[in-house]
Amino acid sequence: MLVADVICSPVKGSILMLNSETSCLCGSVKIKVEEINPKFTVCHCEACRVWGGGPFFAVQCGTNVKIKGNEKVKMYDSSSWASRGFCSDCGTHLFFKFKKTGEYNMPVGLFPNLKGLEMSMQYFSDQRPNYYCFSNETKEMTKAEIMAHFASQI
Ligand SMILES: [Zn+2]
Ligand SMILES: [Zn+2]
Repeated sequence: MLVADVICSPVKGSILMLNSETSCLCGSVKIKVEEINPKFTVCHCEACRVWGGGPFFAVQCGTNVKIKGNEKVKMYDSSSWASRGFCSDCGTHLFFKFKKTGEYNMPVGLFPNLKGLEMSMQYFSDQRPNYYCFSNETKEMTKAEIMAHFASQI
C-alpha cells in the first residue's frame, strides 16, 4: 500500500520546499518528510547503480523526517560517511543517510505526487556508464569535485 499526500510548505530561500508522506511497497515502513527539495539529484556512482540497478534519483529531505516501523528498516553501512536503509520485508529502498549530519536523501520515486520536480545535479558524472544518457540540462560533478566540495561531510 502506497500512501502519498503532498502539500506545499513555506519557501526556504528561493526554493519552495515540499512535504509528503509515503510508505514502502508492503506498508511496514511509513515515512513523513517536512522539507523536500524539489530540485532532485541523480547519482551515477557504482555503489548507487549496484544498489538500485540504475542511477539513484534522490530528493534531499534534510533531517525533519519521521519514520514509523523503524524495526523493519535494515541499515547497510555503505561507506564511512553514509548508510543506506531499506525495508527488510519488501526490499524497498528508503534512504541514503549521511552519518555526520543525519541528513536523508530519498528515492524520488517514493513520492509520486511531488510538484515542480526538476533534475538539477548529476553526481559522479565521470562514473556514468556509456549505455545511457539524459537530455536534461543539469549541473554535473565528478568524483574529484564531489570529494573536494563535500570534504566537511565525509
Ligand atoms: Zn516494506
Ligand atoms: Zn551514488
